[in-house]
Amino acid sequence: MIAVIKQGTSEKQVENLIQWLNTQGVSTHISNGEYSTVLGLVGDTSKIDIELLENLEIIEKVKRISEPFKNANRKFHPDDTVIEVNGNKIGGGNFCFIAGPCSVESEEQILEVAKRVKAAGAAFLRGGAFKPRTSPYDFQGLQATGLELLMLAKRETGMPIVTEIMSTKHLPLFEDVDIIQVGARNMQNFELLKELGRTNKPILLKRGLANNLKELLMSAEYIMAGGNEKIILCERGIRTFETYTRNTLDVSAVPMLHELTHLPVVVDPSHASGLARLVKPMALSAAAAGADGLMIEVHNNPQKALCDGAQSLTPDQFDDVAKAVNTVREAIK
Ligand code: PEP
Ligand code: MN
Repeated sequence: MIAVIKQGTSEKQVENLIQWLNTQGVSTHISNGEYSTVLGLVGDTSKIDIELLENLEIIEKVKRISEPFKNANRKFHPDDTVIEVNGNKIGGGNFCFIAGPCSVESEEQILEVAKRVKAAGAAFLRGGAFKPRTSPYDFQGLQATGLELLMLAKRETGMPIVTEIMSTKHLPLFEDVDIIQVGARNMQNFELLKELGRTNKPILLKRGLANNLKELLMSAEYIMAGGNEKIILCERGIRTFETYTRNTLDVSAVPMLHELTHLPVVVDPSHASGLARLVKPMALSAAAAGADGLMIEVHNNPQKALCDGAQSLTPDQFDDVAKAVNTVREAIK
């Protein structure tokens, strides 16, 4: 349920209302937008007397929210959420590139890629230290050593780090990570989501291979219900009957999510297509659809990559994609 507060209402009056709602067993979320103040009511709102609420002097209107996601709902928070990390903003018209290898492999590799993608305009360095591989016999990532190498790259380049967490038990190792990624395979690992909700780290939440947008938003809701509202959603392709591409990029997820939620939406064209030559057209389509950013896999030597070489761009190719994406962004302004 949301209650729109009349313009000119004092803070004290809003505070009194919040206190009363809390005594009714309902928690509140306030969104002070440019044009309106919206009070979101979370919890069991069935006992709230809507008529009584509607007739309060400070209330403009009251509306029930039918969707199961509340905190993530655009109706709760009409303005775009902007997430700021080390001076880099994502969302609300602020676009960013997150680039780097699928997995951190060596000091030389991560430093070279970091420097090159930074020069091409990437704001964030990505790189997997803990890798969710389909086969237990495949390279599982350098794990704690991988995180140390990412920190080294951060010190050398100043780029904030995005890397995936697979288990709550690894959380202490992620203290210096700037954005924690939840991979597609863990989108519905609810215990992990709850634990991340108790942190104040920005979370990049990837859409599951076979999950719809409502489920993605409910996973965001799990994190937000714990108090962490810094979530970036990521469309990374879904599994369809098509076999020529690794996944199918759901471009429509971008405008649809923008309608449904205030959270920023980025697109990962690398995992969505699985083919380096398709990354550019997919990246351009995502930018044209209004994505708030792109996450792209870049390797200094894709043929030798220990993971996802076929979809990895060289630094030169990334530079070309970034320029083309910026042209599209200019064109749709
Ligand atoms: C990744 O970003 O490296 C990754 C494993 O992606 P996804 O979870 O989308 O498969
Ligand atoms: Mn990958």
